[in-house]
Amino acid sequence: MDDEIKRAIRGIALLNASEHDGKTRNDAIISKIIGFKPELREKIKEVIPIISQIVDEVNTIPLPTQKSELESNFPELLVVKPKQDRTGLPPLEDAEQGRVVTRFPPEPNGYPHIGHAKAAIIDEEYAKMYGGKLIFRFDDTNPENERLEYYAAIKVGLDWLGVKYDQVKNTSDDMELIYKKAEEFIQSGYAYVCTCNKETISKNRREMVSCKCSFGDLSQNIKRWNSMFEKYKPREAIVRFRGDMHSENTAMRDPTLLRIIDEPHPIHKDRYRVWPNYDFAVAIEDSVDGVTHAFRTKEYELRNELYYEILDKLKMRKPRVLEFARLEFDGMPVSKRVLKPLVQEGKVSGYDDPRLPTLEAMRRRGIVPEAIRRFVLSLSFTKSDTLAPFETLESFNRKIIDPTSIRLFMVTDPVKFAVKNNNMTEIEIQNHPQKDMGKRTVKIDGFFYVSGHDAKSLKVGDEIRLLELYNVKIVKSGPDIEAEITDNSFKPKIPKIQWVPAQNAVKIEVLIPKVLFVNEQFNENSLEIKQALTEPHYLELNVGAEIQFVRYGYCRKDSANQVIYTHK
Ligand code: ATP
Ligand code: MG
Repeated sequence: MDDEIKRAIRGIALLNASEHDGKTRNDAIISKIIGFKPELREKIKEVIPIISQIVDEVNTIPLPTQKSELESNFPELLVVKPKQDRTGLPPLEDAEQGRVVTRFPPEPNGYPHIGHAKAAIIDEEYAKMYGGKLIFRFDDTNPENERLEYYAAIKVGLDWLGVKYDQVKNTSDDMELIYKKAEEFIQSGYAYVCTCNKETISKNRREMVSCKCSFGDLSQNIKRWNSMFEKYKPREAIVRFRGDMHSENTAMRDPTLLRIIDEPHPIHKDRYRVWPNYDFAVAIEDSVDGVTHAFRTKEYELRNELYYEILDKLKMRKPRVLEFARLEFDGMPVSKRVLKPLVQEGKVSGYDDPRLPTLEAMRRRGIVPEAIRRFVLSLSFTKSDTLAPFETLESFNRKIIDPTSIRLFMVTDPVKFAVKNNNMTEIEIQNHPQKDMGKRTVKIDGFFYVSGHDAKSLKVGDEIRLLELYNVKIVKSGPDIEAEITDNSFKPKIPKIQWVPAQNAVKIEVLIPKVLFVNEQFNENSLEIKQALTEPHYLELNVGAEIQFVRYGYCRKDSANQVIYTHK
C-alpha cells in the first residue's frame, strides 16, 4: 500500500479523532478514504488492516498532540470549504454569520409559480448559508386582488417545494404600525394628502410640476388624512411622498404611499379602508422585521431609491436591497399577470394545467421539488434577463426520477400484431433495469399491439425483436400485422420494439404539454392528446406514480386513464 494512501488515512483519522474527543473508528475512515480514492473500493479488504493499525495508533495519541500534528502536517484538511460551493450562490455583502434575515413576500393575488420558487429558494438558501432566518410574509395590502384561496395556495406551494421558513406573517397585521408611520410622515411634512384626479397627477408627473396639494399646510394635510378614513371615496384622496418632481427617476416624483380601497380584505374584512401601497409597506415591514438582505426582481430596481428614502425619513433601520433576474422561459411567461387571464378565459383548464409554470402544474407534470431547487441554484446569479432553458430543468428532473420510475410498455396509435406460432402464456418482466423494483407478470396469447410509428416501417420479411419476448419475422404487413417466431438469440442489428398484450391492454390518454406562447400569442395547439394502450400493471400504480414508458419517455400517472408527459 503506497505512502500517499497511508498518509491520507492518517490525516482523516486525526481529523476525525480531533472532532470526537480524541477517538476515531474504522468505519468513520472507510467511506472517507474511498471518497478520496474511489479505486480503493475494489481493494477494501487490503486497506482495512492498514486503517485498523492507523486508527489504533492515533487513538493512543493525546488530543492536543493529535491537533498539533493535524495542523502542522495536514493543514489542507482544516480548510473549511465555503458553503456557497454547494449552492452556487455568491457570498452576500455585509453578511454576518448568524445574523442574516431574508424574507419571501408574495402577494396573495394568484397561484405560486416557478418564479416564486426561484425567489423563495434563494431567500432560504442564503438564510441557511449564513445560519440566519427566513420570514415568509404575505404582502396583502391590496384587498381588491387578494383572496384566502391564494394565501393557502402559496403556502401549499412552499411546503411542496420544501422551503422551510422560521416565521410566517401578514403585512396586513401591522396596519396600526403602518398608520403610525404614515402620520409621522405627514406630521413631519415629508408626505401630503393629494386630492387631484388621476389625470392631473399623471400629467404633472410627466411634466415635472408639483400639484397644488403639495403646498397645503400641515393642518390641511391632517384634516384630509383623517377624512380618508370616512368622507373621501376611493381615488378622491391619496397620501403622497414629497419626493422630487424633477427627478430623473419617475418613481421619485411624489409617489403614492397610501390609498383608499373599499373592497373587504380577505382577513380583516371592513376594518381598514386606507391601505399602503407596495413601496411604503415593503420598506416598513422589511425594516421592522429585522430583514438584513431583501431580494427582489430587477424590475423594482428604480424603486430602491424610494425604499431607502422612506426609511431614511422615518429614521428606521435600512436593510440592503438586492436584485436578481426574473425567471422566464421561452414561450412560457412566468407571471401571475399573464397566467390569470389564461385561466379566466378558459384557455387552459385551471392553475394546474400542465402547460403552465405554476407549482401545481409542475407537480402534476412530474417535476419534483428537488429538481426545481437544483435548477434554480444552477442559474447564474445575475441581473440579466436571459431566458432559462426548460430542458435544463428537465435534465435535473430526469436524473432524480429515473431511479424510481417503473418501466412499462405503452404504444401510441396502436396497430394489431399477431404472432402465429406463439409458444408462451406469460412472461415476467423486471420493473426497473438496475433497481430492485420487483417484477410483473404479463399474460401472453400471441396477440399484441405495437405503436403505429413502429408498424409503419415494417415490411414482409423484416426481422424484429419484441422486447423481453422473442425475435419474429414479419409475414404480413399493413393494419393487421402477422409474424412468426424465428429464435431468441441476441441480434444487435434488428429493431427492438415494445408491445402490449391485446387481451387486456389498458386504454389511456397521454397529455403532452407544448409551448404555451408562440410569437407572444397563445398557442392553440399547446396541448396534444394522444390515445395509447399500456399494460394492465398500470392499473395497480398509484396516481402520482412516475413511469418511464419504454422507448417513449417519462410520464406521470394523473388518473386511472390519463398520464401527463413529463419529458424525454
Ligand atoms: P407577478 O408578475 O407574478 O405578479 P410579482 O413580483 O408581482 O410577480 P409577488 O407575489 O409580489 O409577484 O412576488 C413575490 C416574490 O417573488 C417577489 O420577491 C418577486 O420578485 C418574486 N418573483 C415573482 N415572479 C418572479 C419570477 N418570474 N422570477 C423570479 N422571481 C419572481
Ligand atoms: Mg406583486
